Amino acid sequence: MTIKTIFLDRDGVINKEAEYLFRISDFEFIEGVFDACLYFHNLGYKIIIISNQSGIARGYYNENDYLKLTEWMLGQFNDNGINILDTFYCPHGPESSCNCRKPKPGMLIEAKDKYNISMKDSWMIGDSESDIKAANAAGISNTILVKSGHLVDESNSNSKFTIDSIKQSKEVIKI
Ligand SMILES: [Zn+2]
Repeated sequence: MTIKTIFLDRDGVINKEAEYLFRISDFEFIEGVFDACLYFHNLGYKIIIISNQSGIARGYYNENDYLKLTEWMLGQFNDNGINILDTFYCPHGPESSCNCRKPKPGMLIEAKDKYNISMKDSWMIGDSESDIKAANAAGISNTILVKSGHLVDESNSNSKFTIDSIKQSKEVIKI
């Protein structure tokens, strides 16, 4: 048995982009996130969050700060009836040769192996080209770039779809 999954980037998709975010008080959910996730659940998708957290390597916050924020965030999802199957993060910086930092597909491959995910039936929603590249490299062709208020070069994107915010993903993901 395989499962189908919606992979979500965190910053800029779930919450408003804020530089090197680690404080709960600075975390602001983007409008419509919970609705979109309930919709994904109804279509039978699991939800997994995949994020680069180079703020750890850069020393802006530590792994424990990240985990505390994540625990709180997952509680908020839970309170809204949403189960996040898992969260994966890369703590490394851009100079690292790790396989997890997007655009490398390491975290997606790890998730695929852990949960037996059918990548062709899954989706990636991200706000940067590195999310789209990571997805494509991991065998996911269903990709959505969200603009989330920042300037996106649509003509140079490999994404299959571009939308303003996760709220509109209902118009794209139908089955
Ligand atoms: Zn990494």
